Amino acid sequence: MAWKRVADRRCVGCGRRRHKNEMIRVSKTKDGLIRIDLGANIAGRGCYICYEEECFAKAERKRAIDRALRMNVSDDTYEEVLKTIRKERSSGSEN
Ligand SMILES: [Zn+2]
Repeated sequence: MAWKRVADRRCVGCGRRRHKNEMIRVSKTKDGLIRIDLGANIAGRGCYICYEEECFAKAERKRAIDRALRMNVSDDTYEEVLKTIRKERSSGSEN
């Protein structure tokens, strides 16, 4: 790669790049389980979505998480991602 901006990640919904702290990470552990990862960096393949329901909707329509993680992701997992986005948005930026 000609340049790298390590902290920037591409949203699987809208395709925009943002700082990873502004995004939800969905990771696949080495056991093949899906983990929704807020901030921490779980090793393994992961993808990012903005904290936007619109981005989630786009990702869901394209099954973008399935493609990014190269596995079949259940509807329950998508639902959990959506709930996490809603929860984070309603709680604002605490910590
Ligand atoms: Zn997005």
